Amino acid sequence: MRITHRIGGKPWDGEASRSGEVYDPATGKVAAHVDFASAATVDEAVASARSAFADWRNASLTRRATVMFAFRELLNARKSELTGIVTAEHGKVLSDAAGEVQRALEAVEFACGIPHLLKGGFSENASTRVDVYSIQQPLGVVGVISPFNFPAMVPLWFVPNAIACGNTVVLKPSEKDPSASVFIAELFAEAGLPDGVLNVVHGDKEAVDRILEHPDVKAVSFVGSTPIAKYVYETGTRHGKRVQALGGAKNHMVVLPDADLDLAADAAVSAGFGSAGERCMAISVVVAVDPVGDELVAKIADRIAGLHVGDGRRPGCEMGPLVTGAHRDKVASYVDAGVAEGASLVVDGRGHPVDGDASGFWLGPTLFDHVGADMSVYRDEIFGPVLSVLRAASYDDAVEVVNANPYGNGTAIFTNDGGAARRYQNEVEVGMVGVNVPIPVPVAYYSFGGWKDSLFGDSHAYGPEGVHFYTRTKVVTGRWLDPSHGGVNLGFPQNT
Ligand code: NAD
Repeated sequence: MRITHRIGGKPWDGEASRSGEVYDPATGKVAAHVDFASAATVDEAVASARSAFADWRNASLTRRATVMFAFRELLNARKSELTGIVTAEHGKVLSDAAGEVQRALEAVEFACGIPHLLKGGFSENASTRVDVYSIQQPLGVVGVISPFNFPAMVPLWFVPNAIACGNTVVLKPSEKDPSASVFIAELFAEAGLPDGVLNVVHGDKEAVDRILEHPDVKAVSFVGSTPIAKYVYETGTRHGKRVQALGGAKNHMVVLPDADLDLAADAAVSAGFGSAGERCMAISVVVAVDPVGDELVAKIADRIAGLHVGDGRRPGCEMGPLVTGAHRDKVASYVDAGVAEGASLVVDGRGHPVDGDASGFWLGPTLFDHVGADMSVYRDEIFGPVLSVLRAASYDDAVEVVNANPYGNGTAIFTNDGGAARRYQNEVEVGMVGVNVPIPVPVAYYSFGGWKDSLFGDSHAYGPEGVHFYTRTKVVTGRWLDPSHGGVNLGFPQNT
């Protein structure tokens, strides 16, 4: 099967000189080939978006909201298809993919409220018989570059808000699982979105670089690993664009001695191994505050033993394969690295039973204890089913560990002490905090974003900050002239 771009409302009919393989991670087989866009193909997509912008920027708010409501209805009616597409190319189990699509729907629902979200301010008589008001206008063509791990949700964090604000979009999804974006673009067309408002180009660095350099692209929303996020931010801003670039993570879950250890162990396993650890909000580090470490580690290990790993389409499977063979091998190399560096390997995922084709990209859940902050299993974002436990002597030591880490995406504290939780939310240098909630992804009407090396730029994704990112504010000062305004006055205008 061949997966190609969608430009100007239809599949691209050109010949690609380069392409990539798309796998079914549960069988290890190549399921499709995806065309890679050259710079010239990106130019075609940008030209299509630019020409669509002329009309779309003036489409009434009612019309934009109508398209968004229609898209919401279509997506809701066909969400099981999108769920299947996500599982087939990413590998996450169907129930997890369904959760991703549901959160994506919530982001679409937020954008349905665009008439309300774009209301400006109005000050009557800011000066005598002078009114001042603000309007928010779209930027133009916006680039959206997304990662492999949420092939439906991350594009839908950005595309609905960007479009509803009156922009047109060139979306470059991950080349590892590109079909969800094509499906989304087809549904938008069915919902009545005019041709050229949403274009999808596939590819790698060549396509990304052209988006970053193209003079007609006014803003870029990026999600991916920290080194690429930094590169995208620096390159895009150097070319005069507004950029928000969300990066990688190392999310800590602090467990205080008063916590309910059964609930904390449930949460650590759910958040550590859901989606095979391939979530930017996955818990990859548990910081156990003395004296709970031994008991907590035993409870986590017990739960890991019962996890059903296998083909995400098979009933009962809780954890699927990793996205590619290369990624599986890289993650597995950390099991050896952790042992070599002196961590205690409590559970070796390489021996975990698998309910699936032997050629799939499998790695079972792995647990390390007594991990040190200098070890690579702690320092690096592994992005797989490897959970590390660090021991801390006190609450203060635990906070120090979390704040010393260069990433600052998400974190959680497990405790029944409200005062400790409140102190943690105040002191921790992380953008999204869970109090007894292990994956605190904000709802669609707040905004999503980390601190430090987890986000470059100053706007978080979706919600109010998304609307802010995709619009420019204009302030109008006006009066209807009457004789009282006569007379020449060269002084700086003062409000009277
Ligand atoms: P990635 O950085 O490899 O790729 C992300 C995007 O950048 C893809 O579209 C890819 O084609 C493109 N890309 C890759 N290499 C490039 C290069 N050299 N130059 C230009 N573009 C390039 O990330 P991934 O492996 O697809 O996704 C996993 C990463 O994304 C993890 O680090 C994860 O933490 C992060 N992530 C972060 C968030 C967040 O909200 N902070 C959310 C999801 C994923």
